[in-house]
Amino acid sequence: MKVIEHLQRAKNPLFSYEIVPPPRGRTVQDIIDIVSVLKPLNPPWIDVTAHASEAYYHEREDGTIERKIYKKRPGTIGICGIIQNRFGIDTVAHLLSLGFTREETEDALIELNFLGIQNVLALRGDGSNYKKVIGKDRTENHYASELVEQISDMNKGKFLDSSFQCEAFNFGVGVAGYPEKHFEAPNLKLDIQNLKRKVDAGADYIVTQMFFDNKKYFDFVSQCREAGITVPIIPGLKVIKSFNQLTTLPKNFYIDLPDALVDAISKDPKNAAHIGKEWTMNQVQGLLEAGSPCVHFYIMNDTSTIVDIVKKFQK
Ligand code: FAD
Repeated sequence: MKVIEHLQRAKNPLFSYEIVPPPRGRTVQDIIDIVSVLKPLNPPWIDVTAHASEAYYHEREDGTIERKIYKKRPGTIGICGIIQNRFGIDTVAHLLSLGFTREETEDALIELNFLGIQNVLALRGDGSNYKKVIGKDRTENHYASELVEQISDMNKGKFLDSSFQCEAFNFGVGVAGYPEKHFEAPNLKLDIQNLKRKVDAGADYIVTQMFFDNKKYFDFVSQCREAGITVPIIPGLKVIKSFNQLTTLPKNFYIDLPDALVDAISKDPKNAAHIGKEWTMNQVQGLLEAGSPCVHFYIMNDTSTIVDIVKKFQK
């Protein structure tokens, strides 16, 4: 079932999760272990992140340098297939535009359709240290809105490969939104205009970047509505677990942490996981009181606190 259908049918607030493929060389058992913990929480869907190829350099004994190109975390489509077909939980496969040709994207969507996966989160991705050479007969999407357009075309039966005989696809399409603006955007207003391009291209819901101050989410939603964006905007939360994350989360995700949270963890770093959990619970409480139909958790494959948090709010 599509995410938008889950939202429309839900009688109580939904709790969804994002997981990350295990590092190259690990096995699917890692995923089975994580999903087995989440399954009793009845997740309506689980997102699986996507990762572009990167260049790795290795100095040989003779001093020459070897360059290898590979994905550190491969397997998004396979993992979605396993979760969906083994656990009966709907999945959202993340798809990136940067680092993939449109032809590869078409193949990926054909594979997802084959596996019965009906949801994708269309993302641009970030430039890695490997810039793929695009062949003369190949094309590329740049912004996520172009990727959404390609998926919408396939949903109308329009494929790049005109010899491909298939009925129109029926993918639900989500896109990313940034309550604290995307780091490249000059301001939030322009970023929201670009978000609207993704919705106008066919996205049927938005998931936000993590935020730790609900006011930022509420303000963002108001500004999106003023800009004419009417689709659901799902809040994304992350539970802080360590003192180090006070530095790594703002650096990696271009977000601010509220003074009260930083002060509490700085004063009592050993208690960071407990403070982080309480903080998230307060955020969930505030979001549900304001009528949020769903809360999405970036669990990053750590299920240690999420079960307690969700059990507290699940009806
Ligand atoms: P876009 O919507 O294309 O926007 C990128 C920037 O370009 C923004 O500043 C926007 O304002 C601007 N822009 C957009 N359209 C135009 C235009 N037409 N003209 C000028 N400027 C424009 N990354 C991964 O690698 N893998 C993942 O699985 C992954 N999952 C994510 C899930 C969520 C919920 C979120 C919030 C982010 C995720 N990311 C992931 C990170 C994401 O790839 C980066 O944030 C990336 O930098 C932007 O992606 P986007 O889809 O928002 O890009």
